[in-house]
Amino acid sequence: ACGYSLMRDPHHNKGLAFTEKERDAHYLRGLLPPVVLSQELQVKKLMHNLRQYKVPLQRYMAMMDLQERNERLFYKLLVDNVEELLPVVYTPTVGEACQKYGSIFRRPQGLYISLKEKGKILEVLKNWPERSVQVIVVTDGERILGLGDLGCQGMGIPVGKLSLYTALGGVRPSACLPITIDVGTNNEKLLNDEFYIGLRQRRATGQEYAELLHEFMSAVKQNYGEKVLIQFEDFANHNAFELLAKYSSTHLVFNDDIQGTASVVLAGLLAALRLLGGTLADHRFLFLGAGEAGTGIAELIALEISKQTGNSIEENRKKVWLVDSKGLIVDSRTESLQHFKKPWAHEHKPVKELVDAIKAIKPTVLIGTSGVGKQFTKEVVESMASLNEKPLIMALSNPTSQAECTAEEAYTWSKGRAIFASGSPFDPFEYDGKVFVPGQANNAYIFPGFGLGLIISGAIRLHDDMLLAASEELAAQVTEEHYEKGLIYPPFSDIRKISANIAAKVAVKAYELGLASHLPQPEDLVKYAESCMYSPVYRTYR
Ligand code: NAP
Ligand code: MN
Repeated sequence: ACGYSLMRDPHHNKGLAFTEKERDAHYLRGLLPPVVLSQELQVKKLMHNLRQYKVPLQRYMAMMDLQERNERLFYKLLVDNVEELLPVVYTPTVGEACQKYGSIFRRPQGLYISLKEKGKILEVLKNWPERSVQVIVVTDGERILGLGDLGCQGMGIPVGKLSLYTALGGVRPSACLPITIDVGTNNEKLLNDEFYIGLRQRRATGQEYAELLHEFMSAVKQNYGEKVLIQFEDFANHNAFELLAKYSSTHLVFNDDIQGTASVVLAGLLAALRLLGGTLADHRFLFLGAGEAGTGIAELIALEISKQTGNSIEENRKKVWLVDSKGLIVDSRTESLQHFKKPWAHEHKPVKELVDAIKAIKPTVLIGTSGVGKQFTKEVVESMASLNEKPLIMALSNPTSQAECTAEEAYTWSKGRAIFASGSPFDPFEYDGKVFVPGQANNAYIFPGFGLGLIISGAIRLHDDMLLAASEELAAQVTEEHYEKGLIYPPFSDIRKISANIAAKVAVKAYELGLASHLPQPEDLVKYAESCMYSPVYRTYR
């Protein structure tokens, strides 16, 4: 009986890798065919099987099945094949999985907290089998990737994000808790879908929404204490900004769409300075899109310049301009602007079109965060190239179809002068005999190591200086060899090492700021971070 349950438990199962000794000691004889495979061979076999599937969603489902069957093997696969598997367990495939979550649903992978659980959220948390949770990723499903309101089916996102916390950041799987808060959905298609797994009602808003979220936040702190990291993910922008502001002084909260994005993009900018020349303060930035990503990045740029120059943040914000769906954000629009756009309403006459904004502002850096594809037209790229020897262009909108321009367009239209990075991956491109490798400003560079840093220091609150430290460290990981290819981010294959270094820098900040509770401070934080990281290698059972 013992052996059978060992095989059925994904935390302990090793499949055909159970050794002869283990098979004897744990009543496994006869339950497995005679062969004993190494974990490496299992990885090889599974990768081979996975590559047979031509439909991305099938690969995703195969990975989820593996996670449910043999957790260590799942993470070993992911760690050893990050570049290939990241798009499978996370964007873009996870998006399709969320859209079809109702019909592919097999087993709950996290906690569902709906309006039905109002008044009982603490009890719900106690139903989760793991006691020592360190990271929660929570969504309310209202803005899943670029796909809009997917209601309860957004669960794929916290599950995917947390698998990256483990694979890339080394946070133990048992310390990770995915949560979906279901307050209804305004997605008509889902409301009419007979396989929909969520509450069949329109979204609760206002006080009803705020009360449920408040009960949730209080219950989490009561159950897991002061040090649990709560990552808000894929909330619609009004709620995202509000929740972050409301809880940042009482909880350890992090919003990856706002802060994680900001940190990874700032890292790219800092790295690019080695190619562009000058300091951050010497540049002018123009954004297309002034939402969570755009304003989050803008604010972190202004903060970093303050740190470097000692100038006030208000002063530095004037180097950053944003265009939203109504045109350039300028002072005459202040009255009608959402709260988070107000700091960016600089003195200028109204400008409607992006090209005209470029001509008026003369930016050295152009960043796309609008969620709308094809906005960096030939005219846009050419005007950037006419203003700058090396225009820095970041087309961040996801998925690939929504990118403001492709790598090929950026390189061709700028005649090979652009430094280009994007949100979705693009293949290397040859122009005029030179191969350009576009960088990917993927949030997965930052949040796993960032979270690990908070955990190992026992941080109880987040501080913007920690985000700056993470950006600087990621930028420092870019080497000459990468720059030669035009890269402003390091390759993903080194991500565990990068994460350990980011974690160490974040932890140092936590100690400096008096926000760390893990005392005394370990001497060598990089070594300490590495020693804390989960390894997916099988353990031996005696
Ligand atoms: P969001 O909060 O909804 O913001 C979108 C912004 O774009 C809004 O300010 C909106 O204007 C503006 N906009 C929409 N259509 C426009 C148009 N035609 N012209 C000019 N501006 C327009 O969304 P978000 O969370 O910031 O995400 C935006 C995009 O960034 C998404 O595609 C996402 O995938 C991508 N992203 C990439 C990364 C990354 O690469 N690491 C990270 C995060 C997000 P209004 O305010 O006037 O409505
Ligand atoms: Mn997100």
